Amino acid sequence: MLGSLDSTRREVTIVGAGIAGMLAAYALDKKGYQVTLLESSERAGGLISTRRTAYGIAETAAHSLLTTPAVREFCRELGVELIEVRKGSRARYIVRDGKLKKFPLSIREAADAAFRAAFARAENHADALTLDAWGRKHLGDAALEYLLTPFVRGIYGVQPDELGVAAAFPSLTLAPGATLLGAMLRKSLRRSSSENRQRKDEGKRMVAPLHGMGDLVERLEKRLERNLGDRFRKGVRVDVLPDAPNVLLAVPAYAAANLLEVESPVLSNKLREIEYTPLVSVTVFVSRLSFTKPIKGVGALVAANENRKCLGILFTSSSFEERVFDESRHASFTILFGGTSQPQWVSASDEEIRMAVREELATLLNIEGEPLELVINRWPRAIPRYSVRLPQIWQEARRTWCAQPGRILFGNYTGQVSLRGMIESAAAMG
Ligand SMILES: Cc1cc2nc3c(=O)[nH]c(=O)nc-3n(C[C@H](O)[C@H](O)[C@H](O)COP(=O)(O)OP(=O)(O)OC[C@H]3O[C@@H](n4cnc5c(N)ncnc54)[C@H](O)[C@@H]3O)c2cc1C
Repeated sequence: MLGSLDSTRREVTIVGAGIAGMLAAYALDKKGYQVTLLESSERAGGLISTRRTAYGIAETAAHSLLTTPAVREFCRELGVELIEVRKGSRARYIVRDGKLKKFPLSIREAADAAFRAAFARAENHADALTLDAWGRKHLGDAALEYLLTPFVRGIYGVQPDELGVAAAFPSLTLAPGATLLGAMLRKSLRRSSSENRQRKDEGKRMVAPLHGMGDLVERLEKRLERNLGDRFRKGVRVDVLPDAPNVLLAVPAYAAANLLEVESPVLSNKLREIEYTPLVSVTVFVSRLSFTKPIKGVGALVAANENRKCLGILFTSSSFEERVFDESRHASFTILFGGTSQPQWVSASDEEIRMAVREELATLLNIEGEPLELVINRWPRAIPRYSVRLPQIWQEARRTWCAQPGRILFGNYTGQVSLRGMIESAAAMG
């Protein structure tokens, strides 16, 4: 979140009722602010919703989140039941040389990574590094290729040279002269203080709402409808910056750029520079009869040099219960295509995507035959790019429009892409 509230004034106008805008509205309403929430679409939730099919549920965007005390508290207040990844289905795989591997490095490669982690020292300006440069220095080529690259392709749809360490993974930024191992040891020592040990025991676990993310956003939407009444307006596209003591823009960067064009033209131009990565996420339902062997785990991410069509496959119904209605007969997977390496997938036809899904399931998981149903979500602007330049844009925002109390930017480009991060930021407001 960029900027801060003017707490001497109690009215807030929030533009955008995606998850960020609704979280902010919920937190500020609880703290006694008079919140007005404006959303251009007829439904709230933005990217997030859950579709019900004859076989099970399919998420349009976020499907899981990490639990922290703030996440648990928020879900408890809304009455959203969270479920954990099933025991026995927690394995994560990397596809290397066409095979699913739990640990994709050879002993030599792992030894090289450990050596670099222990002895490679960060230089000055380490915070200006791309993840690619950081990874090569502190973990070596193989770990970069087979651990970091599949991970960031699967989450952000990008290559490590398109991400800035300081923007995307601030906890990996090392002080000049520090080693990765030294920083990790210091962090775990700090954690072992008693208060932190307790926090660690509570654990950050991967969870999902029992009835899907749609249930979470619908409950939040209903709660806000009840609390805000006619101050929650849908189907209202905001084209001019609202005139209110506190204004919180919870729209994507390119939409915030339009609203700030007159009042803050330099920031507006900078916000326009934030690129978004295109992604296609496909939830596919298959018959268990098409399995040639049991498939258990959270999912598989694909190394870039495998030349596969997909970026990764989540084993959706294997990891969480209630994703298919008849577990004995059906299973579901979520397959991710596109990213900066293959952006053409957002304009592929349903038939091309269906063929690609069949090929990836057959080649990577030995699942043959026709899928029962596909739910395809094309997102031309799915995830903002956390590039090395993004922190400079945050700085520009803090120096200009957001320097004035009561002027706030909040969304998945302001520091937190994940729901967990946004829930925590909203809870800390006010
Ligand atoms: C395929 C995919 C998978 C993902 N998986 C995960 C995951 O597993 N876990 C996780 O934590 N995160 C995940 N994410 C990220 C997460 O879903 C997003 O970061 C988050 O939903 C973005 O929320 P937002 O409110 O910032 O933006 P949006 O959802 O884009 O909401 C912005 C809202 O503003 C409204 N708006 C825009 N312009 C105006 C205007 N002028 N006037 C009024 N209203 C306006 C829009 O209609 C929209 O409702 C995933 C994302 C994608 C695409």
